[in-house]
Amino acid sequence: MAVVTCKYHVKTPARWACEPCQINFCIDCIDSPAPGKLPRCPVCDRNLTSLGSGNLVMPYWHRLGQMFIYPFYPTPLVFMLVVLALGYGFANIPIPIFNLLLLLVLIVVVAKYAYVVLQDTAQGHLVPLPIGSETLTDDIILPFKQTALMFAFGSINFTIYDMFGPGVALIAYIIILLALPASTMVLAMEQSFFKALNPALIFLVIKRIGLPYFFMVGLLYLLTLAAEILQGLLTHMVTPGVASILLIFTSMYFFLVMFHLMGYVLYQYHDELGYSVEVEAEAHVPVGKLEIASPEMRATEILIAEGKNQEAALRFEQIIQTTPGNIEARERLLKLLRLLGENTQHTRQGQDFISYLFHENKIGIATKVYQECLAYDKEFRPARPNERVEIARMLRGNGQAKTAVTLLGNLHTEFPSFDGIPAAYLMVAKMLCEQFSDDSKARQILQFVLKYYPNHEIAAEAQEYLTVIDKLAGQQR
Ligand SMILES: [Zn+2]
Ligand SMILES: [Zn+2]
Repeated sequence: MAVVTCKYHVKTPARWACEPCQINFCIDCIDSPAPGKLPRCPVCDRNLTSLGSGNLVMPYWHRLGQMFIYPFYPTPLVFMLVVLALGYGFANIPIPIFNLLLLLVLIVVVAKYAYVVLQDTAQGHLVPLPIGSETLTDDIILPFKQTALMFAFGSINFTIYDMFGPGVALIAYIIILLALPASTMVLAMEQSFFKALNPALIFLVIKRIGLPYFFMVGLLYLLTLAAEILQGLLTHMVTPGVASILLIFTSMYFFLVMFHLMGYVLYQYHDELGYSVEVEAEAHVPVGKLEIASPEMRATEILIAEGKNQEAALRFEQIIQTTPGNIEARERLLKLLRLLGENTQHTRQGQDFISYLFHENKIGIATKVYQECLAYDKEFRPARPNERVEIARMLRGNGQAKTAVTLLGNLHTEFPSFDGIPAAYLMVAKMLCEQFSDDSKARQILQFVLKYYPNHEIAAEAQEYLTVIDKLAGQQR
């Protein structure tokens, strides 16, 4: 019983498959579709095929430990303790027959609860559900059907013994022992005595589960054996009074473990057996935190993994169009475009990203994005002049005057009507003078500002700075 795993999460069982692409996807790769609809393959956009949720259920042989814990959940534990207390009380009623009758009722109630455990587990409830008022009274006939079933199997075996002798009867006995769990499972799911006795139906259940069915049967008889050994030990270790309480408790405990196990096998094979379950399985292996949370981003990851980079880029663009605030998509798109050498698109997306960040007043991040774009493309510049000035100011503050000066070069030819040019150029002049000691270039720029923007509010400051430069130059001479 190999579990089909996801191509991209090799430890996670797959839920969907694309046959043309030959890819299996887990539920983390594909967003769950609308009811009655199949999800689409992120690579080829065809409908995916369901692998059945049975593929997601952890095989019972991987969770044997949990089987033994099941009766210790509060609901079954309290149930068993109440039964013990009532049993003790009933046994001490000094009216013969009457106390036996009450004890018999108690046994029926325990058997009924075992069926409830089987049915709930088969529906995918791996933690016991609370016991409601109807839980134990609805279909209370089930344990009687079970008893009738045992009688039926017994009499079949006796008849065979009478007709064919002990050899054949022994074989029949073994077959009955093998069929008994399947019969119990059919009775639990169908609630029909005749269906539970129908050899064709029993055979179908065994055939569909396959070899794991026989492992389960082996396990059930091992559990019976374990219960007997434990009880044998207990009777020697404690006083008879305590021993009888412990015997009843261990009997109930192993009974619930076994019915939980049979229920779980039904749950695990519900697809094969054609049962629908209430609780759809989630991936049984804890999935490591995925890098990306949203389903559409997962799809782009898959496209990239499949080498479909152009399609992935297109998908990223669609994501950004619908959710401009998806910073992760924007960053990943830029990286992808660099990888693909798509310079024109890189410029457009980079500029768009920076404009978005300015709109959100995130100038620090915008500066970082600019630097990354610049590292890839020496010609890259933000689209708007005010963005260039703000980023240059940020860069200057971070001690990156050279990048800032380059960024502001030619502002007046590219954006002749931008009214921030005098201030930007004054900043450039200051950087040239202070960081690069290039006084002559600084003076040229200041003179340019004074010539072309004599009435601008910044002109006075430019004039003042020019005077300072001249004075310093005079002192040095
Ligand atoms: Zn996956
Ligand atoms: Zn496909």
